[in-house]
Amino acid sequence: MSERTTEHAMHRIFTDHESNVRSYCRNFPAIFQSARGAILTDISGREWIDFLCGAGAVNYGHNHPALKRAVLDYLADDGLVHGLDLHSTAKAQFLEAFQSHILKPRSLEYRVQFTGPTGANAVEAAFKLARKVTGRRGIVAFTHGYHGLTLGALAATANNYFRGAANVTMGDVTFMPYDGWLGAGVDTLAVFERYLKDPSSGMDLPAAVVVETTQGEGGINVASVDWLRGLADLCRRYDILLIIDDIQAGCGRTGPFFSFERAQLKPDLVTMSKSIGAYGLPMSLVLIRPDLDVWKPGEHTGTFRGNNLAFIAATAAIETFWVGTEMVRTVRARAGELRESLRAIAAHHAGRIEPRGIGLLQGFACDEPALAKAISRAAFERGLIVECAGAHDEVIKTMPPLTIGSTELARGCDLLREAVDAAVEGRP
Ligand code: PMP
Repeated sequence: MSERTTEHAMHRIFTDHESNVRSYCRNFPAIFQSARGAILTDISGREWIDFLCGAGAVNYGHNHPALKRAVLDYLADDGLVHGLDLHSTAKAQFLEAFQSHILKPRSLEYRVQFTGPTGANAVEAAFKLARKVTGRRGIVAFTHGYHGLTLGALAATANNYFRGAANVTMGDVTFMPYDGWLGAGVDTLAVFERYLKDPSSGMDLPAAVVVETTQGEGGINVASVDWLRGLADLCRRYDILLIIDDIQAGCGRTGPFFSFERAQLKPDLVTMSKSIGAYGLPMSLVLIRPDLDVWKPGEHTGTFRGNNLAFIAATAAIETFWVGTEMVRTVRARAGELRESLRAIAAHHAGRIEPRGIGLLQGFACDEPALAKAISRAAFERGLIVECAGAHDEVIKTMPPLTIGSTELARGCDLLREAVDAAVEGRP
């Protein structure tokens, strides 16, 4: 591209040539060039604090030096980058680190299935395996849940904006009310159990339940520990497999490495993606309870299963952040600061916004979607990237890097406060 190509001309490249399906770039219409830690920089040198973090794909911030060093060293040595699912030193190191620093200290025993690189790929594999193991077809998903947009995963994704684009029958998934969906004080698991108990409810015994312990795209809905434990117990009693979708809430986002640790669950299957590749490099996997690993060789295959560069970054991330308990303490500390800031902002606008969330997956629900949209826009104008989530896009969702410092977090929260003040007063 010629040096004289102006920013305006560059914008034209996207509007002229990229599909109408593009999304985030419409809300954050800068042309980004570089990124470091929590800071994104555009072609003219303007900076934004990143409270979006690739929707949870860069939990350790952008271009973290320890991860970058490992990736650069591997490339400099001509390490194997693509190898289908061939054995590689990079894969061996990742499996070893994951086993000794993540699974073993938590007394978890799983086989690791590497799927295609997206979250939806992992969800598809988990559903297929659950159906194969049980010989049943049904999956139970929850209201406001999000599990990806390929057809199998989409069938378990609740939002009709996404479902409406498919124009095919999406069967074999039943939606049950998530914790809190029927209002405070209503035990939604009792509703679910009523369906299971009654042979004339119309619901066949499902193969599996799929659930996010905190719904990200659905608007930061945090399931209670009691509800999660009750769900696991229900699954056990009715012989239904429990799939935890930890694609967004996992990898430390809510504090512990797995989001289900707060309820001390041992799911049958776990889907992981986004930050498991640590550097924003695509890699996804399914954790499989060993006795459920009934796949025949190559039965669920794909070209890009196991991204060696991602293995290198992921191993470095595990060794840098997840040996010992330092990371959990750090996230807890930053989460407390974020909670205080969001509470203070909300206190100024009581009745219009209400804080919610857990760990570094927090935000607030707005009384109308237009307000959330205006806040996100005003934040972008002021140098902060923060997105909307929820059934009506009425929730402001903040996902700062887990590695963000207190000062930078406070600066981001100041920008958010200014954006909320402006949006509530109808200023740009
Ligand atoms: N599950 C959850 C909980 C997610 O948040 C997402 C992505 N937002 C997915 C699945 C799908 O991941 P991908 O977009 O990589 O297919």
